[in-house]
Amino acid sequence: MLFACALWAAAPALAQTPKNIIILIADGAAGTQWDFGRYSSQVLRRQSFATTEVVFRQGTVGLLTTSPHGAYVTDSAAAGSAMATGFKTANGAVSTTPDGTAPRTVMEAAKAAGKRIGLVTTATVYDATPAAFALHARSRRDSQALVDQLLALEPDVLMGGGGEYFRPEGAAGGKRKDGKDVVAAFRAKGYQVATRPSELAAASGPKLLGLFSDDDLDFEIERDPAREPTTAEMATAALKALGASAAGFVLLVENENVDTAAHHNDAAALMRALWAFDDAVKVALEFQRAHPDTLVIVTGDHETGGFSPTYAVKDLTVLSAANRFYTGDEHLRMLERITMSLSTVKDKLGKQPSGEVLDQLLASHFPGFRLDADLRALILDGKTDERNFTYLPQNALGRMVARQTGYYWGTSGHTPQPVLVGAMGPGAELFRGYQDNTEFGKHLHRLLRAP
Ligand SMILES: [Zn+2]
Repeated sequence: MLFACALWAAAPALAQTPKNIIILIADGAAGTQWDFGRYSSQVLRRQSFATTEVVFRQGTVGLLTTSPHGAYVTDSAAAGSAMATGFKTANGAVSTTPDGTAPRTVMEAAKAAGKRIGLVTTATVYDATPAAFALHARSRRDSQALVDQLLALEPDVLMGGGGEYFRPEGAAGGKRKDGKDVVAAFRAKGYQVATRPSELAAASGPKLLGLFSDDDLDFEIERDPAREPTTAEMATAALKALGASAAGFVLLVENENVDTAAHHNDAAALMRALWAFDDAVKVALEFQRAHPDTLVIVTGDHETGGFSPTYAVKDLTVLSAANRFYTGDEHLRMLERITMSLSTVKDKLGKQPSGEVLDQLLASHFPGFRLDADLRALILDGKTDERNFTYLPQNALGRMVARQTGYYWGTSGHTPQPVLVGAMGPGAELFRGYQDNTEFGKHLHRLLRAP
């Protein structure tokens, strides 16, 4: 008895270990994004935002610093690698340290511990975050090799976009150089394959491959529900496939569109992506209620966009407070009326934007917004006005939205703002406080090593 107490005292932080771990990552989300999700969800959807109102409020909250090896500002590969392995990598590397070693990822550790594993994302299934949580590569761009590694690893659930690197060149939209049909290879290993939400809903097996797009899934603001599932629908299907395991599972659910919308400075698309992510958090929390031996972790990997809702003057004629507006509910309603992502505006404008097409798109999809002459010139000339705004024409359109709503952005890139992490369930206490993202990874490995 004394001996047992002494052992317990040696590891006081681990009162309990989880059977299941669900990690939900909104790529590019830090405190301001979460609060924007909370505020917009309450005002426009009249719905509680579970990330802040349940996980952060009732669970354990911490902050993670995110710098990679050799830089201050991280990319998603280095951030994901640190969170998945507990070791720093350089930007662009997938769970491979600068000396070339490949420390075990969370998903590899989970598999070694006899658990089932799942990767769900709105990006390609081999994008930086899911890849870093499971695989190893010197470069995140080595898509074909990453898909080969996914096939070898056999995650029980694998869902998202990126079908083009599962099919050979010559097959519709295929990009593989080696002639392989990797979808067929997954089928041969016993996977059910879904390419539409209806197939996903009907899937009933324990092994599931869902590929709903050739590249990234669409932004929630313009998603076609017949063609692509929501993040919550993917999470539901993943939990259905994984949940029955006696040994438990580790599931990663990522919404990458939060990051992409922020790169584009697209507040309207960001808002809907945050809601879509939060709906998946609700699915995870519901699962946890039925299975209390589940640890639910909600976090971002870094901040994107230097997102800064603020007050501003309505125009430059008078700089005093009399000409100022404070962003509020009416500006949210302006965002709500936007019906197209800035990325799709770019696609519709094409390489040689015409003023006429631009005006039509704005009139149809951005009611109430006016495009100032300086921004219009940038768009039609394909130019930027600053070196850290490199998405054309999205960033100029983002500025249009900002000038009338107060949803400003500091950059089109990432920032080193520490990310919030919230955790509920057995092991949650490890994530409390101000830590580095490598400690996040070490905690996960500790939880997976524990008996
Ligand atoms: Zn990013």
